[in-house]
Amino acid sequence: MELVKLDEKRFADYLPLMDREAIEEINYLSDELKGKRMAMINATAFGGGVAEKLSALLPLLKDLGLKVDWWVMDGSDDFFQVTKQFHNCLQGQEGSLAGADIEVYLHQTRLNAAFMEEWNYDFVICHDPQTAALIDYRDSTQHRGRWVWRCHIDTSSPNPEYWDFIYRHIRRYDAVIFTMSDFVGEGVGLPNLTLITPSIDPLSPKNRAFEPAEAAAVIRRFGVELDRPLIVQVSRFDPWKDPLGVIEAYKMVKKEFPSVQLALVGSMATDDPEGWDYLYHTLRRAGEDYDIKVVTNFNGISSLEVNAFQAAANIVLQKSLREGFGLTVSEALWKGTPVIGGRVGGIRLQIEDGVNGYLVETVEQCAERILTLLRNPALAHDFAAIGKEKVRREFLLPTNALAYLRLLHKLNFLP
Ligand code: UDP
Repeated sequence: MELVKLDEKRFADYLPLMDREAIEEINYLSDELKGKRMAMINATAFGGGVAEKLSALLPLLKDLGLKVDWWVMDGSDDFFQVTKQFHNCLQGQEGSLAGADIEVYLHQTRLNAAFMEEWNYDFVICHDPQTAALIDYRDSTQHRGRWVWRCHIDTSSPNPEYWDFIYRHIRRYDAVIFTMSDFVGEGVGLPNLTLITPSIDPLSPKNRAFEPAEAAAVIRRFGVELDRPLIVQVSRFDPWKDPLGVIEAYKMVKKEFPSVQLALVGSMATDDPEGWDYLYHTLRRAGEDYDIKVVTNFNGISSLEVNAFQAAANIVLQKSLREGFGLTVSEALWKGTPVIGGRVGGIRLQIEDGVNGYLVETVEQCAERILTLLRNPALAHDFAAIGKEKVRREFLLPTNALAYLRLLHKLNFLP
């Protein structure tokens, strides 16, 4: 495993965005937990939502007085193939869990667990299926600590074979965190089951306020014409994010709104071996239509550019078919951009259909809703304003930190 260097963040900088009760509770809990040692483990420090969330949350917890280490598991190509299969099947894909895959998974777990022998943490928080079996090695660490497993994916209708395998591991943690109750089957007895919604960092380069002219200058570099409507989806190239469905919806809109442009903005996560295949798939579907821009971290997309695309878009889409949370929804709303999302998973926590955005189930609905918003800028503006206030109240980083502190505090005082 490797340690990831944390950025610096100061809790004090967030105070103007927070309600007084939350500030007081965070101060109280962090005082109680001061000096506690915590390890967070996941599978990648870059690309995708988990890396995004940890890179924001951990520096804040550190500033609040915890001693925090972020560890990234060592993987191999076959391990990441297997864990992507876990990810897909836990989100409902068909398929059977082969014995050879279990061996690859457990072998890599064992190699990573060798790093843990000297560990002396009070809390160990493992993220997503890649890390789940590390619990098998808890007793080999110096200090047993409290262990938590955090699920970031949409397990509302999992492939049972994969769920049973994961379940056998996660039930042995001291607590498990899911994003919403729909992701945990009814009657599933899990220890200290806790629901926590993720958050965005309003002060990060990805979310800080941009002058419109500044955002425009950034996206012009990618060939976007600023006097024409722009639809954007920011996502890994992954079938669950449905970039092909987005292109189909755009094509339908294009017939009525020929000036419309589409940007598909996606970074290639190091633990996502399917990403390249799906990027090529997407490029083929886009074909010769140069009003579709497909851009990645390999042609200059970093946080600043994502920010600019989300800020400058007329509409942001997150047309997922499954979604753990979908940070991109809150990111866009926070910038005052209206969002149309798939009616799935955590997107439903962020968008209230017809109140602060639209939820859609099909390509046709998506196209229809895009047309509605393009034709009604005042409605689009209202949706975004209502959405922004919802994000401020529910989905900003300090709220997320508070939820973690509550859980750690509870675990710390468990008999
Ligand atoms: N992201 C990015 N660059 C890209 C594509 C995505 O920085 O080119 C970020 C995006 O802004 C968001 C995260 O990756 O912060 C994706 O999180 P989300 O919860 O939407 O999806 P996940 O990848 O976890 O399935």
